[in-house]
Amino acid sequence: MKSYVLGFPRVGEQRELKFALESYWKNSISLAELESTAKELRARHWKYQADAGIDCFSVNDFSMYDGMLDMMFLLGSIPNRFKDIENRTARYFAMARGDKTHTAMEMTKWFNTNYHYIVPELSANDDLNLDVSKIVNEYREARETVPESSLKINIVGIVTFLKLSKRVDGKINSLELFDKYLNIYSSLISELSKLDEKVIIQFDEPAFVTSIGNEELSLLKIAYDKLAVISNNVKIIVATYFDHSVEATKVLVNTPISAIALDFVLGEKNLESLEIIAKSDKKLLVGIVNGRNIWINDIKKSIDLLNKISSIVPKERIRVGTSTSLLHVPYSLKYEIKMDDEIKSWLSYAVEKLDEVVLIKKLFFGQALSHEEKAKYSTNIKSVISRKTSSRVIDKSVRQRVENFVFAPRENFETRIKKQHEVFQYPPLATTTIGSFPQTADVRKARSDYKAGKISTDEYNNFLKLEIAKTIKFQEDIGLDVLVHGEFERNDMVEYFGEQLNGFAFSQNGWVQSYGSRCVKPPHIYGDVSRPKPMTVDWISYAQSLSNKKVKGMLTGPVTILAWSFVRDDQPKSETSRQIAFAIRDEIEDLEKNGIDMIQVDEAAFKEGYPLRREDIVIYEKWAVEDFLVATAVVKPTTQIHTHMCYSEFNDIIKTIEAMDADVISIETSRSGNSLLKVFEKVGYKQEVGPGVYDIHSPRVPSVDEMVKQIELLLEVLPERQLWINPDCGLKTRGWAEVEPSLKNMVEAVKVVRTKRS
Ligand code: GLN
Ligand code: ZN
Repeated sequence: MKSYVLGFPRVGEQRELKFALESYWKNSISLAELESTAKELRARHWKYQADAGIDCFSVNDFSMYDGMLDMMFLLGSIPNRFKDIENRTARYFAMARGDKTHTAMEMTKWFNTNYHYIVPELSANDDLNLDVSKIVNEYREARETVPESSLKINIVGIVTFLKLSKRVDGKINSLELFDKYLNIYSSLISELSKLDEKVIIQFDEPAFVTSIGNEELSLLKIAYDKLAVISNNVKIIVATYFDHSVEATKVLVNTPISAIALDFVLGEKNLESLEIIAKSDKKLLVGIVNGRNIWINDIKKSIDLLNKISSIVPKERIRVGTSTSLLHVPYSLKYEIKMDDEIKSWLSYAVEKLDEVVLIKKLFFGQALSHEEKAKYSTNIKSVISRKTSSRVIDKSVRQRVENFVFAPRENFETRIKKQHEVFQYPPLATTTIGSFPQTADVRKARSDYKAGKISTDEYNNFLKLEIAKTIKFQEDIGLDVLVHGEFERNDMVEYFGEQLNGFAFSQNGWVQSYGSRCVKPPHIYGDVSRPKPMTVDWISYAQSLSNKKVKGMLTGPVTILAWSFVRDDQPKSETSRQIAFAIRDEIEDLEKNGIDMIQVDEAAFKEGYPLRREDIVIYEKWAVEDFLVATAVVKPTTQIHTHMCYSEFNDIIKTIEAMDADVISIETSRSGNSLLKVFEKVGYKQEVGPGVYDIHSPRVPSVDEMVKQIELLLEVLPERQLWINPDCGLKTRGWAEVEPSLKNMVEAVKVVRTKRS
């Protein structure tokens, strides 16, 4: 075995699993039909890998919904609140998505990716029960489908599993349950050892690329000392990815596992571990083909790196593969018919990456190349050069602008907010919304009809104007203080801007799983970014022309655009982000010129952009804050800058948020009363804050009373002059039937509070 892949995407290149799942949930196909789709997909994916010539690849990288959820079923750690559901499938999907009587389990981001996993809920008295049926089935299927290939079984490692879980029994630390889980992981190995003559298990322990403490490291040692000797026909690989894991490697080389898989794309520092790996007997799986991004591999450079590695670690102990699971990239370029040929020649999706792994392996180990492979290699060399030198990538004027820029800060907040109050005259507890209004079936249909050429630009624009007018009228009728246009023209808050900026390309079919059946199609930022012409001015000006009340301009910030795109790997992220900041700056300047003097710049992903390791945080915060300032500090003191962030935990980052210097920030606190707001008071935060007063993620209509209470809670923490009242995120996923009464009640609640206080 010389080449490997850490994991393959699962939804299918035509999103077959998504559509099958959604049909099953609607009762329009049977469970058997869903399972047969899943089985076909697994077989297809194994064949892709075997046919490409990958020597070793994964079983159990498939999931009907999510791998962490599968872990709960494997170990039998089912939260008590779902035990009343007897049927296994019903229970599985209820845990994932909720049902009539159960709220869904929490979902959160898998490290710094846009993939979401289900957070296990653990209690000390859970009785665990091993159920290896899924793995056994899939292993047998794989054996039949690809009899010649070497298989490994993917399982989330014990420390990472516990670390990503939460306690629901009043305790906090999941690692306290380690002993109990180690027992079940041990039984798991005994069970799996029966599968085959030789069984390889890949334990994923990505938790060790984060800033992790000594407790976890000592548990890592205990775990793999034990697990690696349970059965002598089981070989264990421990894999980390998304960054380096030098601390964990120091521990793992002294355990009886057989191999360590490291990410040499995002974890360059792993090079420091080569000496100790060389001294040990471990095989080294060199993750060199980027599983997190879509660019072609610079194969020559990879060979150089491998040669460097093999000058320390003996070549016969080296394996070549992907840096992470390919779950995070789209399937195949074969569906990209419309994409520009030059840009396409710079791209490599999952299927193309398989060829890269094999080519690198052959070159590195000196194996003969076929004609086709020789041609691929020379194409690769050419494409790497064209990407480096293409005029579409480098735009001198953009670079000069960034270089020559001298930053001028805005007038200080205290002075400018007084002026703003005079100009705008909004009352304390001013009411507003976050930006989007319902993206109804009609709105989506108009957009797709327009894209398909079924309706003309005029027809489409007229439709949007009507939607905007209706929405403005509604907001006026119910008495909101600051209005929005509703974002009907936007498919997505990042894609909409990317489509209008230079340096962005879009795929037709580049879907990546976000969670369950949901997929996203991230833009590809390939070149220097600039804004050829205004992007939002017409829509916002139109909306403003319909009302005497203020309509907020609505933009997405640089860090969020960056976080939800595939970004260039040929320059630091911070440089790309800075270029986007200038594009947004231009837009803000144009909005202001056109009389829009309240402008919101959403940074929904500001927090998720944080690096995995503590030591990298300062650098990130510096450029991320500066980019927000570059984008926004172009306006007059009397123009008001808002921002919105989709989360509520600001304890660690409050000073950074303050440094962004927005006049108003709206945040997501509706589910936490006022406890999370206290940090704003504690640090003496001066700018204005709009803590969401109701949860837009739920279809429930909040009552006036309930929101009165919520507002009163907020008033215990911050003075009314500092508070805005709004829902906790955009309303695009809701229907009008919920939005209308909810917002009416919200405005009413503010009236009640104002009367009570006067
Ligand atoms: N303005 C956006 C909206 O309302 C913000 C959404 C978000 O932050 N996720 O939809
Ligand atoms: Zn939000």
